[in-house]
This record gives sequence, structure tokens and C-alpha cells, in this order.
Amino acid sequence: MLGVYVHLPFCPYLCPYCDFAKWPLRGSAANNYLEALSAEISREPRTPAGTLYLGGGTPNAYDRDSIAALLARLRERFPGTRETSIELNPELVRDGDLARYGAAGVTRLSIGVQSFDPAEIRTLGRKHNVEQIEAVVAAARAAALDSVSLDLMFAVPGQTPESWRRSLRAALALGVDHISAYGLTVEDGTPYGAWRAREPDAFLDDAREAQLYAIAIETLERGGYRQYEISNFARPGHECAHNLNYWANGPYIGLGVGAASYRAGVRSLHTRSLDRYVAAALSGEPIPADAERLEGRRRAGEAMMLALRTTQGVSVGDFKNRYGINVMEEYAPVVHRFARTGLLERVGDAVRLTRRGRFFANDVCGAFLTFE
Ligand code: SF4
Repeated sequence: MLGVYVHLPFCPYLCPYCDFAKWPLRGSAANNYLEALSAEISREPRTPAGTLYLGGGTPNAYDRDSIAALLARLRERFPGTRETSIELNPELVRDGDLARYGAAGVTRLSIGVQSFDPAEIRTLGRKHNVEQIEAVVAAARAAALDSVSLDLMFAVPGQTPESWRRSLRAALALGVDHISAYGLTVEDGTPYGAWRAREPDAFLDDAREAQLYAIAIETLERGGYRQYEISNFARPGHECAHNLNYWANGPYIGLGVGAASYRAGVRSLHTRSLDRYVAAALSGEPIPADAERLEGRRRAGEAMMLALRTTQGVSVGDFKNRYGINVMEEYAPVVHRFARTGLLERVGDAVRLTRRGRFFANDVCGAFLTFE
């Protein structure tokens, strides 16, 4: 299955923890960007695709007609999709937006909530309130969209187990279909990076972060959601097909500035320079990108790293069929090291992270990627 990701990088304000490719919203730049994106889309050969995903940035910084026109263009190039997702900031949603998205083929919303706690929302630099989140979920139901997902964040400075539980329970009370729970990542070069350098004690240590992660798993599972990936929980049938394709090491096309693609064994990453992207797309030049062909051990290591993110883990039999590698032989030292420390387990045909191992997923997955 082919997935198509489209990056819409403008935001009405910039959150201090954010390390994505994004720019403050300015009308002329945002309009030029849509033209560049259209030019890039029109260069793509017509190819059936399984999923479309509009991510950002803040996709709904654009008005609904621009989004609908973009989706029509994408559908013409990539027919046959069964899931179309859009990320939203709740405070920007206007009456009628979600019905228009639904008519344009959107099936799934991913709402950037992060927290239901007003103090945490302020700390994160976000501008919405709880009433706006509730209104968006209600509007999504009225528009009969297939799946509604909320993004939540833990390890926010000032967050406590109690405030985190309250946010999780508020999400559960809304009865959404899917919840993503991400640990805050602080990157150098962001305002949060500078804050942490000045005041490291404002940030949660690993033990407190692990406690919050465990609370998320326990609360959401008790609420009827199945964890299917390190950060993702869904009611049955509401898993994100677009992301499942990433973790299955399936092919995808990334359109727009900073977007990543993986096709025919080549992983590539578009430039993160907005000016260079727009200039190249509008002039018909190749979009500047770094590209790398993944072969042999490197390709298998990537596939292991991605599959281990899912709770079902890696099927030893399927892996052998697809990559010609017996995981239990090829990666024996890594598998045994993490099995001994209780982070990996063998269950039937699968090698997978244990519940404790999910918190250390980056270390475990990284070890497969770099194993020589
Ligand atoms: S809205 Fe999203 S993409 Fe934009 S600055 Fe905030 S976190 Fe980053």
C-alpha cells in the first residue's frame, strides 16, 4: 500500500517546544506554498494510494476551500484512498469546516490537544481551551467522520500524575476513537531547549516520565483502547492505516517542504528550506533532497526498528520471507541482551517489546539499526 503525506508548514503561532519544519503564517508565503505544492503534485505520475495524510505545521491554518481544492488535486493523482487524515488545531476550527472536509473526502481527524489542563496548555504555548476541544469533537460526530483522534502529551513541565490522569480521563469522556500519547521531547535550538539549559529541574526526569507513560497505558487500556504502537491507542478498527504502513516499512511519498519519502528502496528527505523548496517546485527543477538507498543489513535494521514500535512486534517468519533474514540468528546478541534485561520478549512467532521495554523503545530499536 502506498501512503501519501503532504506537509502544510504554516502555524498562526509557534509553540516553544516544536522542532518541526514550520513557519509563522503569512498570507503571501502560504499562498505561494500552495502553488508550489500543486506544481509538485502535478509532476507525480497517477498512482493508486491507500492513504492520504495532511500534516503540519497546522493544516487548518488554511481555509476549508483551499484544503478541499488540495484534496481534489491529490485524489486525481492518487486515486483509491480509503483513509484521508488531517491534523487540526482546535481553536482554528470554524462552523462548517468539518462538514466541508467530510464532503472533500476526509475520514479521520487528528486534533492537537496535548493537555486539558489550562496551566499546561499555557506552558506549551498553545492557544485553545477545553470548550473548543469539546466543540470540535461534537462537530466531527455531526459530520459523521469515521475516526477522531486526540494527541496528548506527557512530561510537560509542571505536570503531575494527577493532572495527567485528569487529561486522560477528559479524553476518555469525549469517547474519541483514537488517542496518541507522546512524551515531550526537548530539542536543542528550540525555546524549550534554552529553558532546559537554564533550568533543568523544571523538566521531568526519566523515572517520573516512565511513571506517566505507565499511567497512560493503564488508563487507556482500562478505558477500552488497545495500545498498538508505542504512542498510539485505538478502539478496534480505528488504528491509523497511514501510520501502520510506515511501521510495516511500506512505501510512502512525502510532498512539501521537509517531507520524507520511501519508494523503491530509496529513502529521501526534501530540503527544510522553504525558499529552496518553493523555488524548485515552481520552476520545475528537482526538489533539493538527501537520498539514500537502503539495502541489505541497513534495510533490515530499519524494518526491525519500525516493526518493534508496534505492540505485535516482529514476526520472525514474515521477516525471513520478506528480507531473507532469520531475526533470531542475525540479531541474536541484541535480542538476548534486551531479553535478559526484560525489555524484549519472544511470544509465539513474534519478538516484541515488553510493556517496560516500550518506554525504552528508542534505545532498543536503535540497537537493531546500528548492529553490525
Ligand atoms: S502548532 Fe504544531 S507544528 Fe505549529 S508550532 Fe505548534 S507544535 Fe509546531
